[in-house]
Amino acid sequence: MENVMIIGSGPAGLTAALYAARANLNPLVITGQDLGGQIATTTEVENFPGFPEALTGPQLTELMQKQAERFGARIEFDSITSVDLARQPFRLVGNNAEYEAKSLIVATGASPRKLGVPGEKDLTGRGVSYCATCDGFFFRGKELMIVGGGDSALQEGLFLTKFASKVQIVHRRDSLRAGPALQERARKNEKMSFIWNTVISEVQGDKAVKAVRLKNVRTGEESVKPVDGVFVYVGHIPNTAIFKGQLEMDEEGYLSVDSKLHTNIPGVFAAGEAHDRWFRQAIVSAGYGCMAAMETEKYLASLE
Ligand code: NAP
Repeated sequence: MENVMIIGSGPAGLTAALYAARANLNPLVITGQDLGGQIATTTEVENFPGFPEALTGPQLTELMQKQAERFGARIEFDSITSVDLARQPFRLVGNNAEYEAKSLIVATGASPRKLGVPGEKDLTGRGVSYCATCDGFFFRGKELMIVGGGDSALQEGLFLTKFASKVQIVHRRDSLRAGPALQERARKNEKMSFIWNTVISEVQGDKAVKAVRLKNVRTGEESVKPVDGVFVYVGHIPNTAIFKGQLEMDEEGYLSVDSKLHTNIPGVFAAGEAHDRWFRQAIVSAGYGCMAAMETEKYLASLE
């Protein structure tokens, strides 16, 4: 029987582990598929306070892991496949083992929605990116394509104009989903242009992105355009499917929490991108991890 289990090992999960360990709660972290979550796929992290020299996502993950373990957090390489939160203790079934816990911190994060086209997966990290804040710096003077017509596509596209020589937004319709203020800023930006009613049907390149195949969804016409990078902003998918029917969530799967990160079930807390659809930054998720651990400590004390 565990005091507190933390599902997920990104910045939210590992920070929750650090705080829970320092509160003598002997937390058990279940890593999920990849230790570190989304940050572990980031080549360089330059905006995490305390690290004036950039470090890689895996390095940041390793440091967070070591710090949490130093105070007694245990880290288990497993993925939870189902949970039963209707009974106390909560019951969790993983690929490798079954667990019971008095309290739970859900730090399962979110995954960027993929295009699902040929070349996308192979060239991820080599020109295909889902994070302008993380990778924009590498595209100084380069030509970029951004996919999507929402706030993220425009906001991140505008950010990328600081580095790139040209930023083209490829959108599948002829009107944007993004709010009017961002639309106006994008239209006024000389480096930005739009390709309407169009999708990317293939990302081409060998060691790095060289071009994309575009398809006009109205005419069916196809063309190949040379580009140096492709940033995909077609939404995120929170990793909350295993909680469906047990934890309250919105129609997109983001968990519903109160201002202290309590879910609808006492003893179950959420931290990070499983509930936060707005900020999507490692430092914000780490902050949520801290909050969730502090609330868990109070909850466990109230049981005694
Ligand atoms: P979003 O609003 O869901 O927009 C996703 C965009 O991707 C849409 O334009 C959609 O096209 C397009 N898309 C979806 N699947 C696609 C596919 N398979 N191929 C090509 N295009 C596809 O996501 P988001 O922009 O990440 O925003 C998420 C939330 O955060 C929103 O509520 C947004 O308002 C908010 N947000 C706000 C700000 C801000 O206020 N500054 C900044 C960022 C995010 P359609 O339009 O045709 O559906």
